[in-house]
This record gives sequence, C-alpha cells and structure tokens, in this order.
Amino acid sequence: MDTIKYQLADSQIPTTWYNLAADLPVLSPPLHPGTGQPATVEDLVGIMPKELAEQELSLERDIEIPSVVRQIYAQWRPAPLFRARRLEKLLDTPARIYYKYEGGSPAGSHKPNTGIAQAFYNKEAGIRRLATETGAGQWGSSLSLAGAFFGLEVKVFMVRVSYHQKPHRRALMQAYGATCVPSPSTETAAGRGILADDPDCPGSLGIATSEAIEVAMNDPFTNYAGGSVLNHVALHQTVIGKEALLQLEMADDYPDIVVGAAGGGSNLAGLAFPFLGEQLRGGRRVRVIAAEPSACPSLTQGRVAYDFGDATGLTPLLKMHTLGHSFVPPAIHAGGLRYHGIAPLVSQALEDGLLEARAVPQTACFEAGLTFARTEGILPAPESTHAIRVAIDEALRLKEEGRSEAILFGLSGHGHFDLTAYEKYLGDELVDEGFDQELVARSLSRLPEQFGAGPSGTQADQVAGS
Ligand SMILES: *Cc1c(COP(=O)(O)O)cnc(C)c1O
Repeated sequence: MDTIKYQLADSQIPTTWYNLAADLPVLSPPLHPGTGQPATVEDLVGIMPKELAEQELSLERDIEIPSVVRQIYAQWRPAPLFRARRLEKLLDTPARIYYKYEGGSPAGSHKPNTGIAQAFYNKEAGIRRLATETGAGQWGSSLSLAGAFFGLEVKVFMVRVSYHQKPHRRALMQAYGATCVPSPSTETAAGRGILADDPDCPGSLGIATSEAIEVAMNDPFTNYAGGSVLNHVALHQTVIGKEALLQLEMADDYPDIVVGAAGGGSNLAGLAFPFLGEQLRGGRRVRVIAAEPSACPSLTQGRVAYDFGDATGLTPLLKMHTLGHSFVPPAIHAGGLRYHGIAPLVSQALEDGLLEARAVPQTACFEAGLTFARTEGILPAPESTHAIRVAIDEALRLKEEGRSEAILFGLSGHGHFDLTAYEKYLGDELVDEGFDQELVARSLSRLPEQFGAGPSGTQADQVAGS
C-alpha cells in the first residue's frame, strides 16, 4: 500500500509559536520559592535569559520565532505528517490514523525544537555555558546539538540509571562536544546530599535538574536550560501542532482525537495546544489524551499542588499535577517519562476538562511499538510507544463501535538508541513496574504545604469520593 505523506514547503514553517496561556480562562503563576509571591522576570533571569523569562510569563497569544531559529528548523522542518494506512489495515479499523513524526531532527526527537531556541536566546545574552538534566539522553543530546551550532559549552547531568542503560546517547552528547556526568553526582551540594542518604540512588529527572540549576546559579556565565515542563518549552514545541493543522487541511481532515506521550508534557503540548486554541476560540472540539507511564502517573495519580520542579527545591514553585518532588520513579525504559510532575499548562488543561489522561504499562507500550514498527517501518522511542498504545486502543474501540473518526498522534522520536530496551522486551525480560502507592504518599507528604498543598485533590481521591 502506498505511503501517504503530507509535506509542507519550507516557507510554511510557522513564523510564530502559539501560547495557550493567552486562551486559558484560569492560570496559576509560578511562585518565588522564598516569598511565595508570583515570580517576576527579574526572579527568573538568574538562570535564564530575559527573553525566555518573558516568554515564561507571557500572556501574548502569538510569539515570533527568530529568523535564525526558523532557518535552523528548516534542516528537519516542516516535519512530515503521515497517514498510517498499513497500521489501519492491520487493525482493520474504520479510524483514520495520522502521526506527526518528530524523529527526523538530528537528535532524533522533538526536543531540538526548543533546544535551538534556548541556545539562540542564551547566545544573544552573552552566556557561555548551558547546564541541564537529561533522562534517556534525548534532551541532553538535543541541547548538545544546539550548543554545537551556537558555540556554547553544554554540561549535562544524566540520570544515573539511564547513563548506564543508554551509553550510546551519552556518546552522542560527547560527539557534539558536551560534558556528561551521571546524576546524582558528587559535583554539586544537591547531588552529594542525595548520595549521603542513598548511595545507590538510580537518580531522577528532578534530582538531575537540581544539580543543573545549582551549577547555573553559581556561575554568571552559565544558564540553566530545561527540556520540558516550563511554559517557554511548551511554547517552542507548538511548531508541531501548527504544522499539523496545515497538513490535516491538506488531507481535508480534522482530528477527533489527539494523543501524545506525556513525560514533562512538552511534545503533547506542542502537538495539542494549537488544536485546543482553535477549540477555545470557537473552533471544532477535539479530545486530547495524554498517555503516561503507569509507573510514573503524575496526571492520573498525582495531586494538584504548588511543588518544586526539581528534587531539592531550587526552582520556582509550579502549580501542577505532581507525585511530589522527592518521588524517584522506577527505572522504566521510557526514561524521558520519569518525571514527578507535568507542565503547568498541561495540568491546567486537565483541570479545565480540555484533556484526559491515561496511564499505560510499559510492556503493552513496547508491544504497540513493535506493531507500529512492523506496519509503518519506524521504530519508535520507548516514550513515543505510550502514544501509540493509546492511539491503537482508540482505533480498536472505534472498530468495535463501528465509527470512523480521525486520530492524530505524536511520534515524538525514533528508538534507534533504545535497542537494548527492545532486545529485553523481545527476550521477555521486561516487566511492568508497579506503582508504589506508599512511596508516593511519602513523597506527597513532603509537598511545600504552605503554598496550598492540601490533603486531597488527586484524581484517585475524586474517584474514591464520588
Ligand atoms: C523527552 C521525550 C518525551 C517526553 O517528554 P515531553 O516533555 O513530555 O514531551 C517523549 N518522547 C520523546 C521521544 C522524548 O525524547
């Protein structure tokens, strides 16, 4: 069967990013961790350039993409949108399945969409070095790529379990010229403190973030660059959804359902927010589904509260669905989804009923990933398989109901650096990590209570209480 690809011209790369904050009825601003007052641009410029701090707090709907950034985007953008005809045929579903493929970037995922933008603004601000965290290495390699393009040093704190599970991503960062250390490390007070408590700590994105922020705070020429969660990161990713809107127009179609894998929430935000923006301004309604790992289910099991974005409390307080900043998730293979919280904008959208969340176990995701690889040919990143699992389940539900709807999902990256994980799955060595209620309860008891973290408010509580 023929491949159906919707490809835009370079001139159709979006000229602006879309800011959902402009269209949401309710927003909870980030708070200064010391004063509890809404954070200002001045509060944020200690770790990021003014332009990004302004974007973080912006209520402007359309924010211009600098021409240098658009020119670099042109290396892999516009990203193709495919109709998954062979997958549809295998599933024997009346659903029309589309996927937007972000794996064509040099780093193999959507993450350079923001890495390039952040490196650009930092270079303009006279910064020499960027410090960051990485899970599976997707963000670290994306920022390393951006650092190489703009002549910035990059220091990456890589979650220890991934550092050992994914040696090739580490090598990719080093190939781009970056320095990569396993986290928790002995290089920072945050890392040393955690190692003193737990010398075998597998690490987490929250811990690695603390280390990177500490380094940025201690050096005026070093800034922090975040790979997800923050408003400006979600903003930069909206090039994905803005292109998809045009591509579906080419297909003379419109999605009924939009699915994305949710770690920190940025690729889901990037794909779905432009569609939600249309809806909020009177356009068609879409069902947006966030697919998260059942081993780290911040959206379905977390509490909505002001919490820190990192493990030791250096970031502004963010209002989000959270498992608690001290939660260390099990060592699942979708390392990019091992984060205790979720982007505040995604969290708010869930609160507002603009999106749904579904937790899926990793073996079911790898199974879906292989089904996808064997029909569509692209081996998906373990993170992306969460979106594929939910898209396939929705297509099968539509088949049962005899309804033809359009499903669009985000294929956020390829899995060429994750073959060890696939090997394990194929060798029957992968298990589904349980969700440790007790560990989460303990972590939630350490939320910064004074900022409105009450004893209730999780989806589970609501279900139990209804
Ligand atoms: C990092 C990553 C994710 C998860 O991060 P989000 O911020 O939720 O998008 C998903 N897919 C891939 C391929 C990733 O690299």
